[in-house]
Amino acid sequence: MQKIVLMGECMLELRQAKDGLMLRSFAGDTFNTAVYMKRISAEQDVAFMTGLGQDTISQQLISVCRSENLNNQHISTKSERHPGIYLVETDEQGERSFLYWRDKSAAKEVMQFVDEQAIAELCQADLFFFSGISIAILETEHRAAFWAMLERLKSAGVKIGFDPNYRPRLWNGPEDAIAEFTKAYAACDIMMPGVEDFKLLYDIETLDDILAFCQPFNIDEVVLKNGPESVYCQVKGELTHVVVTPVTYVVDTTSAGDSFNGVYLSARLAGKDVTSSVELASAAAGIVIQHPGAIAPVESFAGIRNSFADY
Ligand code: AMP
Repeated sequence: MQKIVLMGECMLELRQAKDGLMLRSFAGDTFNTAVYMKRISAEQDVAFMTGLGQDTISQQLISVCRSENLNNQHISTKSERHPGIYLVETDEQGERSFLYWRDKSAAKEVMQFVDEQAIAELCQADLFFFSGISIAILETEHRAAFWAMLERLKSAGVKIGFDPNYRPRLWNGPEDAIAEFTKAYAACDIMMPGVEDFKLLYDIETLDDILAFCQPFNIDEVVLKNGPESVYCQVKGELTHVVVTPVTYVVDTTSAGDSFNGVYLSARLAGKDVTSSVELASAAAGIVIQHPGAIAPVESFAGIRNSFADY
């Protein structure tokens, strides 16, 4: 069984329903990716790695991970802190806004509880995946421990996956993000950025400029997403272009990229070729954006699961 570990933060999401009641769920980019990976391929051992506390919200998140059949082995519950929370509000024009309470979340301390035994277990993984958000939220003084851990995993032969997922407000300015991302580009075997990441951070957005930017890092596999526009993959120097069928009924684009990542990675690990993997991932993201929130209902994924088996 292949083992995949995805590291990051998952928060309690509060969302106002039409009747005024507050709906609760859990979401976070790498958590969403883990959920979709496991949903599409039960044969893979998918673990979400984070820091939690001993409070009831932490316990509920662990139950949700269990109900999504995720491996909880890399979740630490030793923090004195609680999970982060965010509130999604939608105005009369349908425009969404987000309010966060995450400055002191337990996930920021995750590296504090990663000991030698945990690293030895992580070294058994086939793939370790993290995002720009996973790094941004770490307490600054813990970042060195993260990069040292990543080096150990790489030396042990674990493949490294990275999605920049640049969120300006989580960083002390773009230079901070650029410095950390540069280490991630150098370390990763597979990178899954959005065109938006490059536009915001480096003011480049054409395919040629982005590929030229990535070239010195010798990344085996670059998968470039751009909303409803085509996906471009460069795998060991070979460029593949896959057209995306735009969805006309879009409810909420949250988690489009996360679900794409999860299904793409599952497909590649299952030995599928690049084009099939992008097609499956795009189809999955196309379903996710027709549902509110980050995690679409399990039933909505039945068709994709069947296609995954058939491809
Ligand atoms: P994004 O993170 O917005 O670049 O989207 C990630 C992936 O989700 C894209 O590469 C597409 O496969 C899919 N996607 C996003 N928006 C749409 C859309 N409007 N219609 C169809 N697919 C979409």
